[in-house]
Amino acid sequence: MTGETPARAVPFDLAVVGTGILGAMVAYRAMLRHPGWRILAVDRQRAGAGATGMSAGFDVPTGRCERQRSMAARSTAFYAELAGRRPASGRRAVDVFWLVSAGGRQALADTLHGSPPEEVDAARAKELAAVFPGLTPGPESVLLATGPGSRAVPAKVARDLLREVRDTPGNAVRDGWHVRAVEPADDGLALLASDGTGVTARRVVVATGPWAVDGPYGDRALAHGLRTKKVVAFHVQSPPPAGAPALVFEDEDAFLLPQPEHGRWLLSITSQEWDVPATRADRLVVTAEDRDIARAVLDRHVPGFGAGLAGGQVHCDSYPPDGLPLVTRADDTGRAVLAVGGAGAGYRLAPAVAEDALNLFEPEGPDTA
Ligand SMILES: Cc1cc2nc3c(=O)[nH]c(=O)nc-3n(C[C@H](O)[C@H](O)[C@H](O)COP(=O)(O)OP(=O)(O)OC[C@H]3O[C@@H](n4cnc5c(N)ncnc54)[C@H](O)[C@@H]3O)c2cc1C
Repeated sequence: MTGETPARAVPFDLAVVGTGILGAMVAYRAMLRHPGWRILAVDRQRAGAGATGMSAGFDVPTGRCERQRSMAARSTAFYAELAGRRPASGRRAVDVFWLVSAGGRQALADTLHGSPPEEVDAARAKELAAVFPGLTPGPESVLLATGPGSRAVPAKVARDLLREVRDTPGNAVRDGWHVRAVEPADDGLALLASDGTGVTARRVVVATGPWAVDGPYGDRALAHGLRTKKVVAFHVQSPPPAGAPALVFEDEDAFLLPQPEHGRWLLSITSQEWDVPATRADRLVVTAEDRDIARAVLDRHVPGFGAGLAGGQVHCDSYPPDGLPLVTRADDTGRAVLAVGGAGAGYRLAPAVAEDALNLFEPEGPDTA
């Protein structure tokens, strides 16, 4: 820890509870935006202990509605700038192809914040069939190409951001510090931890992800309808060729992402297992039902990959009812903000979530809930 102030000393200007990708991004962007602020970022475990640690880190230029498209565009621009500044960020460009039903083509075009999708010609389709064994779009589906996306390791991104926060004098990053309550105090808000210690801060952002309903301002999160849902990605043990693209199965809300450094593909599927709390480790497992969903996607579209399905990664994420991040004031003091609801896209939207959360501390900041 660097330059940390003991409890009951001068309050921190900002305390961030939870250092998954959302909390890490809030702390980092706050540091850039307010160089004079003293920032504390804490986690009950450590960065990457939650959904962020299991994330595929895929960033595609889409959004289901105007707000999500704008968040995605702002976030992609921020990640690109970040990668420009730090060559070792691990962010890699990846070409993206989309398999959509013929009727879904316009819907895809409407979700993109980049250039419109283009139909893949026969020569390119043949090349793709060599990469994705058995890929043969039927008469009802169409193969489209869009601008490139990117992939990264979100836990690494979070840790790198936190390192910069921690190394800036006046700031502190604490692992293994579980905030059990946040209460009004004379000079701001008091964060009370399970170990009996506490700190005060003028402002607090709670970014506890899938723990949100059980933690500080959990009643607020519940009142906004926040729930948890399992997010699952499988590993397909087959080495992707150099420069392999990602393939999105738009109608199944699934995608194949190359991970050549691991000698495998990652197949993300959509689980419908709701209300899986982060506190229930026994439910954070890949089930036979998940495997059936994965198998069906591969059998339908890339049958040559079916035999390689083995292992995977799973966690739950927090989901607001509209599937968009919940960035809102957490109490009536104007000092506390909830920034949760990654909804399966928290990595790719994190920079915009952080920006919107910090805007709420400015008098003119909009409430985006
Ligand atoms: C398998 C999988 C694949 C995914 N793929 C993608 C993808 O390709 N692209 C994408 O954009 N998104 C993806 N996601 C979703 C994305 O990873 C999440 O939306 C995002 O990581 C959520 O970040 P978070 O910071 O809200 O939550 P978390 O990462 O869960 O962080 C919350 C943190 O808060 C801490 N905490 C909780 N309570 C307290 C407390 N009381 N005191 C202190 N600390 C506390 C926890 O320890 C945890 O570290 C995927 C998720 C999974 C599981």
